[in-house]
Amino acid sequence: MILLGALSLVFLSCASDSDADDTRVHIVTSVSPITSILEQIAGDRVALKGVVPEGVNSHTYEPAPSVVRLISDADLIVLNGLQLEDQLLRLAEANRSQHTVVLLLGEEALRPDQWVFDFSFPETDGKPNPHLWTDPILALSYARTITRELVALDPANTTYFTANLDAFRVRIEALDRAIVEAVATIPEGQRRLLTYHDSWPYFAHRYGFEVIGAVQPSDFSDPSPREVAGLIRQVSEADIPAVFGSEVFPSDVLETIADESGAIFISELRDDDLPGEQGDSDHSYFGLMVANMRLMIPALGGNAQAFDGFDVSSIFDGESTAEYSLHLGLPNENLHDSYVQVGGIADWIR
Ligand SMILES: [Zn+2]
Repeated sequence: MILLGALSLVFLSCASDSDADDTRVHIVTSVSPITSILEQIAGDRVALKGVVPEGVNSHTYEPAPSVVRLISDADLIVLNGLQLEDQLLRLAEANRSQHTVVLLLGEEALRPDQWVFDFSFPETDGKPNPHLWTDPILALSYARTITRELVALDPANTTYFTANLDAFRVRIEALDRAIVEAVATIPEGQRRLLTYHDSWPYFAHRYGFEVIGAVQPSDFSDPSPREVAGLIRQVSEADIPAVFGSEVFPSDVLETIADESGAIFISELRDDDLPGEQGDSDHSYFGLMVANMRLMIPALGGNAQAFDGFDVSSIFDGESTAEYSLHLGLPNENLHDSYVQVGGIADWIR
């Protein structure tokens, strides 16, 4: 016991010393898309740590004890908000120092009357669908809020931050044009999304898709054979071209439903898990969106040529010093918890 205590004290004091030597603004973020958007604007001028490991269920993420020290050292804590990171927000409120700003990007991007409530995020629960970043224009809104706060905290780097925001805006506008162009190649009646994890309503609203439903059960059990048969019939009758699973939430049942109903099954849409590994050029917000479009658009009968040669690498000059949390490799059942309500089968097809 004594030895362990001494060892961890040594470790903690080493870590604190190296952080204290870093005079840059210290920022803690939650999920990787937000870490990446922040990194695009802040580049190498801040010390940035994303704490939600990629590949885990961000909705039920419980911060590790080590996150407390990061929070108490942070000058700025940037969360998606809209109740996505409830536990992290509580930890931040309890452990931040007095000067620390907690930024909730979702609350700044949309007025309450613009929030989406749906099958998985019913209004009766009071938690809106928090996945705003699947709409690139809302991601640009996140970047503007972030830039405003960075300039306030570190005015000496104002020119650098605002130049990065300009470059980010230009790239977002290119992404938006490419999505519009690619969506136009999908036959009109097929611009419909049936997903497992319900993260696309804001994207759907901007680009003219109908979200038919989300499948994810609240307790992560499989539907009964009778329910599966019912789902298969409805997917067949509605002539849904493809169903989309999520990288973070693998589902054999969804694959069965797709196979039996003749729909294409796409298993790896990404909600908050960036492609590749930290340091790869596609490990970015742009990489995330383009990877999703290259899966989604062809599966619905369109073509994704608009994304040929699209630059997904980071827009800022210099080496990234952001730290993304590593996926700890826990078995899926430990990562899954109940938070969403599955739409009743009758609710499926509107
Ligand atoms: Zn999600």
